Amino acid sequence: MQQSLFSPAILVVDDEQRLRDSLSELLRMSGYEVSCAANGREAITQIGGRGIDLVLLDINMPDISGQEVLDFIVARQIDTSVVILSGESTFVQATQALRKGVEDFLTKPYDPEKLLATVANVLKKRQRKNDFLLIQKRLQGSEELHRFIVNSAPDLIFMLDEQGCFAFVNERVESLLGCSAEDILGKHYSEIVYEKDREKARYGFNLIRHPGLRASRRIELRLLGRSGDEPRYVEVRAISVELNPKGVYTTEHRRQGGGVGTYGVARDIGDRKQSEELRRYQMYHDVLTSLPNRTLFNDRLEIALGHAKRSGSKLAVMSLDIDRFKKINDTFGHLAGDELLQSVALKLKKCLREGDTLARVGGDEFSLLLPSLSQNEDAATIGRKILEVSSRPVCHQNKELRITFSIGVAVYPDHGETKDTLLRNADLAMYRVKQTGRNGFHYFSEEMRQNSSHSLDIENSLHRAIRENELRLYYQPQIDMDTEKVIGLEALIRWEHPLRGLLLPADFIPIAEETKLICDIGDWVLRQACKDAVVLKNQGYGDIKIAINVSPQQFEMEGFDRTVFQTIKQHGLDTRFLEIEITENSIMRDMNKSMETITALAGEGVTIAVDDFGIGYSSLGYLHTLPLTTLKLDRSFVKNIVHDAEQNTIVTAVLAMAKGLRINFIAEGVEVQAQHDYLLAAGCPFAQGFHYSRPLEFSKLIPFLSAEG
Ligand code: C2E
Ligand code: MG
Ligand code: MG
Repeated sequence: MQQSLFSPAILVVDDEQRLRDSLSELLRMSGYEVSCAANGREAITQIGGRGIDLVLLDINMPDISGQEVLDFIVARQIDTSVVILSGESTFVQATQALRKGVEDFLTKPYDPEKLLATVANVLKKRQRKNDFLLIQKRLQGSEELHRFIVNSAPDLIFMLDEQGCFAFVNERVESLLGCSAEDILGKHYSEIVYEKDREKARYGFNLIRHPGLRASRRIELRLLGRSGDEPRYVEVRAISVELNPKGVYTTEHRRQGGGVGTYGVARDIGDRKQSEELRRYQMYHDVLTSLPNRTLFNDRLEIALGHAKRSGSKLAVMSLDIDRFKKINDTFGHLAGDELLQSVALKLKKCLREGDTLARVGGDEFSLLLPSLSQNEDAATIGRKILEVSSRPVCHQNKELRITFSIGVAVYPDHGETKDTLLRNADLAMYRVKQTGRNGFHYFSEEMRQNSSHSLDIENSLHRAIRENELRLYYQPQIDMDTEKVIGLEALIRWEHPLRGLLLPADFIPIAEETKLICDIGDWVLRQACKDAVVLKNQGYGDIKIAINVSPQQFEMEGFDRTVFQTIKQHGLDTRFLEIEITENSIMRDMNKSMETITALAGEGVTIAVDDFGIGYSSLGYLHTLPLTTLKLDRSFVKNIVHDAEQNTIVTAVLAMAKGLRINFIAEGVEVQAQHDYLLAAGCPFAQGFHYSRPLEFSKLIPFLSAEG
């Protein structure tokens, strides 16, 4: 009932018109809002209809009496004050009326001053009562508000009493710890702290309650939830509060015989902890394979080295690199590459002992630490095991993927005494494996270090070699065994190094392959072979084929076949003059792509020879499917002819197969007459080797051919 803004509303109830008029006049003049009722019925209607602050009620009325109006007010619990105005009233009437909550009793005829004083007094009392009720209501509302705020806080809010027992805890306890506030109240806080954190909690709370310290503190704790649940990480911020003698908490420092309690907030930091842990894990692990990363590996190596130094023991560092991993990635996509890495990581782990650390330190690079090595040979045992296990084929999209590793090993203290030296030397040993055919295992040796600076040298000067025209093509004749006539020439590259003299392919091709310079070199070879072919053609040797060696990288280059056709065309040559030599392994790297390129080349008349046949994957099945022209039997088979009967049967078998497939066959590396004789007798159609001619520089080639002819 908001009265302050409006003047109070008074209802005058009397059956006497004169009295009604005079009363209402008097009251209106005093600033009240007045309405009148001539009988009990009218009074009831008005009282029930709108907010009346005060009723001046005549008791004796015909029909419905003032008592009955009072009864109505009481029965309906109508909020209004009543003052009785009565001519003559009995004591009984008066007490009855007062019992029904009547505020005052005035007699007729009334004394205006007294009446106004009474009215003012009653209205004032009423105002006070209303104000009080309003405050009550507000207080109640505000308590509900605070309760709501506290209970819906995202944090656990609590009060501990002097003994450290819970005196209050908000409803957040239910979702955080899975128990109700009642379960917790009265318990000592340590009962809900995870065992390992209790000491920390005790220390923290003691500090908070230290009389001199008023600042709040933060403590990270784990709280116990329901049995079986993981402890929850919380960050507690608490301050000490004073308990006054009535047990009321206050943060003001006035100890009047009360005690010290603790008010605090515990925030769930499970997510933060989790992300912190994840971050820490990611800092030291490779996410793809879950193996330790380079940082963790280096740490462990450092520790293991310290231990080895103190105990005088050995340890080994291995550098492992997947051979041609990029190709797998390019061919099958990164997803397949990732899967492969994961399965490789699993396979490798199985080869190791507890205490060994295998880390992924790059795309396809792994490092392995064998911390307690009794002898150098132990590393080789593990290395061989890894090679054996990883070479087992993995099935991907119905294709068999086979991966191999190049592994280098450096042993402490034999191959280095510091972390960096050992890592570098293991890498050098691994590069050596790469250079010498991959899929193998090598210990570091001093000579590798000298060689590595040599490689760097070569890489730098190879750029110059291409620019300054220091490369040369030598040609080795290929002979028809029956007629001993030259039917082809294999172009073999040489480098006329200004300081080192004539370098052979083995001195620089592996480095060129590693640095991608091989593609520039390959282009140069192709152009040079074409130029030389033009000269030969002009000299009347247009029927002689020229075979060029193509590196896998070049063969796999986008548009390789088109480059070949264009170059041939630019020199006005026929495609049939050119043969392309690629190794088995290079074809097998990506059969689909190889099939495409070889088919395109063959379609235009360029012939394809499989170089070094017999030492690669030796999967003969694919020969049917590819338009191959020539097989070049690897030198190693020819070398053993005469001495080794078993090898001879291999030669005979491969020869028979080539005949069956109607594929040309060239035996490489024929050095002596006996080999020539054997091959001739076995029906080998073509051969190449020192026995007929060493590779010749171009200027000596024409004289050789003409002397022959
Ligand atoms: P390849 O294609 O198998 O070439 C035959 C190698 O055997 C040549 O070595 C040749 O000189 C050698 N050879 C020939 N007859 C005999 C013999 O009777 N006895 C012995 N012991 N060796 C013989 P070279 O020139 O040192 O080339 C080595 C390899 O380098 C080649 O093997 C080829 O794979 C690669 N290569 C040569 N030229 C190029 C080129 O222009 N580009 C690329 N990418 N690789 C090339
Ligand atoms: Mg060759
Ligand atoms: Mg060869």
